[in-house]
Amino acid sequence: MPATKFSCPDGKEISISGCLDGCRCGTRCMFLPTLRAVAQSSDRQLDEPSVTELLNGTREVFLKKTREYAINPEDALYALQGQGIHGIHEKHIDGDILAEVRLKDGTTSGKFDLYGQLLDEDTGTLGDLKVTSSYKLMRALGYYKKSVPTGEVYKTGAKKGQPKYRQELFTDGVRYVMDWALQLNYYRILLEQQGFEVKRMFIQAICRDGSLRIAAERGIDRNVYIIPINKISDHWLIRYFKHKAKALKEAMATGEMPKLCSARERWHDKKCQSYCDVADYCDHGQAVKQAMIKKAG
Ligand code: SF4
Ligand code: SF4
Repeated sequence: MPATKFSCPDGKEISISGCLDGCRCGTRCMFLPTLRAVAQSSDRQLDEPSVTELLNGTREVFLKKTREYAINPEDALYALQGQGIHGIHEKHIDGDILAEVRLKDGTTSGKFDLYGQLLDEDTGTLGDLKVTSSYKLMRALGYYKKSVPTGEVYKTGAKKGQPKYRQELFTDGVRYVMDWALQLNYYRILLEQQGFEVKRMFIQAICRDGSLRIAAERGIDRNVYIIPINKISDHWLIRYFKHKAKALKEAMATGEMPKLCSARERWHDKKCQSYCDVADYCDHGQAVKQAMIKKAG
């Protein structure tokens, strides 16, 4: 079931068709064509679960497929930006590059962005386009901040005599690209099943807040980064996606709520707090939100 309602800026909800027919507030919160585009982008239904769907927690996907839920059109604008970037690239493809082809196997289906001569003469490069935040880029590049002693001490106050610290940026950390790696590697498998050789994989990540000071503080000083993605074992990957597809299929057949999304899938509860559209149907989502309200006072 796609999203059926919009959340208005005042927190009230309206059916998407009702909103498109006429704004309940008199003046729209954004242009009508933008709202139509948001409505269309949230209405993509495939029979088989897609690679990107299976990257999410099974519980979240199950609830999105079986419950009526609301989305905030403002939150969907970033996804729209991403789709715009894809559309622009599609217009600039020549004979050496394949783009936006949906491939499927017995488990799932996936639409890769670009394949071919993307960076040099190598014809076997698989590429994926992302529009993302400086925070996610910082983590994907392995940048992190750490407190380091300045060599000075506090001369007065409660901390008198204690060493002073400052936050410093380091670039030798773990690269957090697991979701991107799972996605691209499965596209690689789908391409290889069709006889295409994939020699290398890259994400082209455009930073959506690149001009802000916060991005510079995170060490993100460019608007675009090419991020290499390593190969994941086919055996492990196929097992992982088969397991996720089976769990979803079983839940859909029985109607039983799947087990809790994993800590990685629910972004260690950050997603449940503010970014899961179906959190109101999930006991864990409700508990996390309640705890957040309690903490806020
Ligand atoms: S245009 Fe915006 S404020 Fe008006 S009904 Fe639609 S979502 Fe709500
Ligand atoms: S609220 Fe959290 S645990 Fe529940 S479906 Fe959403 S992401 Fe998963």
